[in-house]
Amino acid sequence: MPPLKHVSTVCANTVTLPVREAGVIAEADVLVVGGGPAGLGAAVGAADAGADVLLAERYGFLGGSATAALVMPLMSYHTQQPSPRQAGSVTLFPTDHGFGEPVIAGVLKRLVDKLVERHGAIAPTPETGYVVPFDPEVFKSVALELLDASGVRYLLHSLASGVLGGRVVEGVVFETKSGPIVIRARTVVDCTGDADIAAFAGARYVIGRERDGVTGPMTLMFRMTGFDRDQFLAYVRSHPDQWYGVHGLWDLIREATLRGDLSLQREDILLFGTPHNGEVVVNSTRITGASGIDVCDLSHAEREGRRQMDQIALFLRHYVPGFRDAYVVQSGSTVGVRGTRRIIGDYVLTADDVLQARKFNDVIARGAYPIDIHNPNGPGTIIRRLPPDEAYDIPLRCLLPRGVDRLAVAGKCISGTYEAHSSFRAAPICVATGQAAGVCAAIAALGCTSPHEVPARVVQDELLRQGANLRGMR
Ligand SMILES: Cc1cc2nc3c(=O)[nH]c(=O)nc-3n(C[C@H](O)[C@H](O)[C@H](O)COP(=O)(O)OP(=O)(O)OC[C@H]3O[C@@H](n4cnc5c(N)ncnc54)[C@H](O)[C@@H]3O)c2cc1C
Repeated sequence: MPPLKHVSTVCANTVTLPVREAGVIAEADVLVVGGGPAGLGAAVGAADAGADVLLAERYGFLGGSATAALVMPLMSYHTQQPSPRQAGSVTLFPTDHGFGEPVIAGVLKRLVDKLVERHGAIAPTPETGYVVPFDPEVFKSVALELLDASGVRYLLHSLASGVLGGRVVEGVVFETKSGPIVIRARTVVDCTGDADIAAFAGARYVIGRERDGVTGPMTLMFRMTGFDRDQFLAYVRSHPDQWYGVHGLWDLIREATLRGDLSLQREDILLFGTPHNGEVVVNSTRITGASGIDVCDLSHAEREGRRQMDQIALFLRHYVPGFRDAYVVQSGSTVGVRGTRRIIGDYVLTADDVLQARKFNDVIARGAYPIDIHNPNGPGTIIRRLPPDEAYDIPLRCLLPRGVDRLAVAGKCISGTYEAHSSFRAAPICVATGQAAGVCAAIAALGCTSPHEVPARVVQDELLRQGANLRGMR
């Protein structure tokens, strides 16, 4: 049976649900909703700023897209320099651009250091590339350890479904196996990736591309093990026009397509190495025309992603040297959703801000990852890089939803355009905006004030005390 046919979730045929009661099971200075990269940053940042913090997450583990959707590796958080395009570079890690200074530190540094210490990641170096390959299972454990070390309480298996207080958020309602529950907080940080809490509170937002609302394609990621890296790299060395950095295989794709064995939805195969020698993570499925906040679309995307994954895995095994004995050991527990809602904040970050490496007085995080737009309608990816050795600032105003109080937002759903989002959605930048939102929320909660009233300078001082990198600050 196919998944339910697409029907708009806002449909004509509605019923009124019975009024129900919910137990208030906890109170906190700061409630962080969502335990992905942004949620980790927010919870640790808020706790280290002295707040009593509770993090609630819908799944039974932390890490968000990094673990649930197997989105690997952590993308670049270093400035880059142009280096000559080297066809056939023999690597499974991107080294195509020179490697500069890290522009993010703080909680991200703690996360990466702990992952490396636990042999769950490869630290970025000019030789291994400017990304951080990691093991998602180690990531899940390290994320819990980070919360424990900062004294953050957490509740798993809790899906936020509403807010108390409307535009002045007083608490959040969660659906759980114990029935509906409520957690009250002085300030809430929305790290759901979809701006769920902001939307429940009535905040204004945009979805996808400004001109037509189209969102970036989804991808079901998967790991293959039993992969012979030496054989693969030997093939790449002997076919230097067929592999560039971490993607390619154009001739083999053409051959398989002509034989009817493959109908790839993107332009090439994109593979990343992991910390394990016999393993790659494959980022090559592409599901277009589906919304990550529509349950019918999501059901369709899971089906379509799995169909594409099976076909790509067979292609790799039958056509690509090094994959003969490889098999899919794990696919994402959920399809990866690149973007849905973005709040409209007191400032909207633009592609120009990113590409001009613009600086702001109220900087609270920095990014150096390029604009990276996956075609929402089919093959093609646009990459536009920052100037060499440069980074852009993200202002505090991008984290504060206009017209809603006692709420800060972090991660991929902060205030920015569709194009700017393709840069600031990189997981390391989400950790950094998370830490800043957590710090702002903690200062607001402890001072009984609104996040909108917290001076940027106070947030910056605390972030610097916590080891964040705000070098672009003026
Ligand atoms: C296919 C794909 C490939 C990508 N490739 C890379 C890459 O190689 N490197 C990189 O750095 N970035 C990559 N990204 C981007 C990056 O993974 C995400 O943008 C980043 O993880 C976003 O972090 P976040 O914390 O904002 O949201 P998420 O990682 O989505 O985390 C949100 C968390 O909130 C929880 N949640 C959601 N709704 C609720 C709710 N209502 N109640 C309770 N909990 C809730 C979720 O379960 C999740 O744990 C990729 C993204 C995709 C989709």
